[in-house]
Amino acid sequence: MAGALVPFFSLPVFSVLFFSVQVYRINLKCARAQKGHERVYSFLEAASTPDVTEWPQDGFPVIRTSLPGPKSQVLLARQNERESNARTYPRRLPIGIAQACGSYLLDVDGNVFIDFLNGAGALPLGHAHPRLLAAAHRQLDSLTHGLDFPTPAKTMFTDELFGMLPDSLRGQMKVQFCGPTGSDGVEAALKLCKTATGRSDVVSFTGGFHGSSHSTMAVTGLRSPKETLPNLMPGVQFFPYAYCYRCPLGLTPSRCEINCAMQLEIILDDANGGVRLPAAVILEVVQGEGGGIPARAEFVREVRRITRERAIPLIIDEIQSGCGRTGQFFAFEHYAIDPDVIVLSKGLGGLGLPISVVLYRKELDTWQPGAHTGTFRGNQLAFAAGAEMLRIMRSQDVCGQAGASGARALARLRQETLGLPCVGDVRGLGLMIAIEIISPTSGRGDPLLAAAVQSDAFQHGLIFELGGRDDCVIRLLPALTVEAQVLDAALDILIASISRQAARLAA
Ligand code: PMP
Repeated sequence: MAGALVPFFSLPVFSVLFFSVQVYRINLKCARAQKGHERVYSFLEAASTPDVTEWPQDGFPVIRTSLPGPKSQVLLARQNERESNARTYPRRLPIGIAQACGSYLLDVDGNVFIDFLNGAGALPLGHAHPRLLAAAHRQLDSLTHGLDFPTPAKTMFTDELFGMLPDSLRGQMKVQFCGPTGSDGVEAALKLCKTATGRSDVVSFTGGFHGSSHSTMAVTGLRSPKETLPNLMPGVQFFPYAYCYRCPLGLTPSRCEINCAMQLEIILDDANGGVRLPAAVILEVVQGEGGGIPARAEFVREVRRITRERAIPLIIDEIQSGCGRTGQFFAFEHYAIDPDVIVLSKGLGGLGLPISVVLYRKELDTWQPGAHTGTFRGNQLAFAAGAEMLRIMRSQDVCGQAGASGARALARLRQETLGLPCVGDVRGLGLMIAIEIISPTSGRGDPLLAAAVQSDAFQHGLIFELGGRDDCVIRLLPALTVEAQVLDAALDILIASISRQAARLAA
């Protein structure tokens, strides 16, 4: 019998059979995978159009599922498997986003949140402003990518942007369009100042945040990412920032004579101070990631005087504080100073479309053609939406609205939370608002408590991010045009969350 089978299983027959089985198995696998993909895609399509027909009318969020909802859980799990460990926001704000409109975010489970994270401050008029969408749609049909060629969309955007400069700087500045991130704008600003001065070093301030690339991280105060990254850009010196709630020099306001700025002057002038005359001083007049800290006015004016007297270009990083966020188009306008270099990004593309620019005094324009290139310096959709946004900002006094809403929110937060033992400081300028959460016993920042407040507010439908030292600062960045009832609803939720966590702590 065995012998009879031998010819049947001769080598050629066996090979054909073997390969047929393999092909069949592969086909089966592909069919299954295809089915799997189809299932995932139909799930994703369904998830991107959840069953919500209208946005809330009363200002309040609508939470329909436990959070994260089941569909969000699926997306988050897939993200966790496939995306970088460096991802951030969805760790503490676990949702999959389907749609957004104005100040609202809709997750894939049909829950509607109030969004005070606002694309990390990149949406001055909120999500999906109809006039900005129309401008982007119009542009989409004619030209989308333009490198650094002049185009009608770019020219109109540049006109609008120059039109936002204060009178004292009008006609004095040039603009460099950068790669689309704020970090690339800061990179360009540093390169520009090094080229123009022929110097190598840069002065920055404690708590400042300027980006995630090698040079911008070097001028950023945050220490933890630097600890695993040797050889960042050398030649950076940090000086104390006017963070008056926790004075870096241990002084109280009554004993302060702007010693932080004085220290900069003394060290720069000290032949034995160890600091060379820098190519630039870079400053956020209102620190964003550092904890929503508006610098004391005298400090900023002193830094301007000190830099001007020594011909050091002063770079003001307006990436977060600009575009009307603080109630003026540029935050430095509150301080009545004129910078030499301004970096803007985030909100400038209106719909969260990427743009990053450096505005700088014409005298600094000494760099050579190609000194700062980049493929994505000409996003025409961003120019079209950005120009329309700037027109709206001017015609509807959006900065004024932001200033008024911010003052109202700050007053209410101060009145209703400053007495709580876990609230150390409530501060802000315009709609860049911060609440520092502290341990009632030690008075130090309390990151766990801040995270508990964030999570509690999230469960009740309000989204915001934390920042500052040890992430113990609640940071609110609403749309500048946030409606009064949405702002009130958000503050109701936030104040209740802080109070609940304070009560839990006291129990
Ligand atoms: N500067 C400031 C003040 C910022 O807030 C940020 C971003 N949070 C950056 C620079 C870097 O911008 P980007 O994330 O677009 O690189």
